[in-house]
Amino acid sequence: MKALVAVKRVVDYNVKVRVKADQTGVDLTNVKMSINPFCEIAVEEAVRLKEKGVVTEIVVVSVGPAAAQEQIRSAMALGADRSILVQTDDAVGSLGVAKILKGIVDAEQPQIILLGKQAIDDDNNQTGQMLAALMGVGQGTFASEVVVEGTTMKVTREIDGGLQTVALPLPAIVTTDLRLNEPRYAALPNIMKARKKPLDTKTPADYGVDTTPKVKTLKVTPPAERKAGIKVKSVDELLDKLKNEAKVI
Ligand code: AMP
Repeated sequence: MKALVAVKRVVDYNVKVRVKADQTGVDLTNVKMSINPFCEIAVEEAVRLKEKGVVTEIVVVSVGPAAAQEQIRSAMALGADRSILVQTDDAVGSLGVAKILKGIVDAEQPQIILLGKQAIDDDNNQTGQMLAALMGVGQGTFASEVVVEGTTMKVTREIDGGLQTVALPLPAIVTTDLRLNEPRYAALPNIMKARKKPLDTKTPADYGVDTTPKVKTLKVTPPAERKAGIKVKSVDELLDKLKNEAKVI
């Protein structure tokens, strides 16, 4: 069966982001970009399913600028077989991305669709859920284990206070949580091989999707600076400060 994995190009998680002076967004000039970490986990899971003989082909898709080819090539170096870049310089928004993914699902007919639980740039946590609704199929979100048994997929989900296991008839959506797996590093020969793997370039219009955003960003501001801490000399002093200054006990 075929697996489709959606990967987003985002600012690398090690970068300390700076907000643009005009507060319209984050400054991306000379900033290191990477695959969204949760998407990397999604690619790794698809590769493991292929290694187990469950999946026979892995298709990676990204919606974004031409430069997102870098992240697509990295996903293919990890083990994806081929890829589709839906090229656009517009901020498409989650619903637009979900509609494009629906178009790709219709064309490719994958049985398993893997996404990250969230992209670490906008922390939306909604594209997988929207795609499941558009497709009318089940979703196993925040997955920490995925087991495919015939035409059913069992997904263990990380929920408040524990784990929940759901059974989903295929095709179905999985969104990955941090503990699902630890992605491998791409070996040099695989990085070289990935350069030759097929990469199709499409546009949102190819899937009949209007990319006009449904959400307008009014302002982006950095989080408030944390105040410096202080050192206390004794437990008594700590208790005194908690009681009389912070007034938390
Ligand atoms: P979000 O709902 O934006 O937090 O993103 C959740 C997941 O949806 C990501 O981890 C990706 O798997 C997928 N996704 C979101 N935006 C894109 C995009 N532009 N291209 C490909 N996949 C995306």
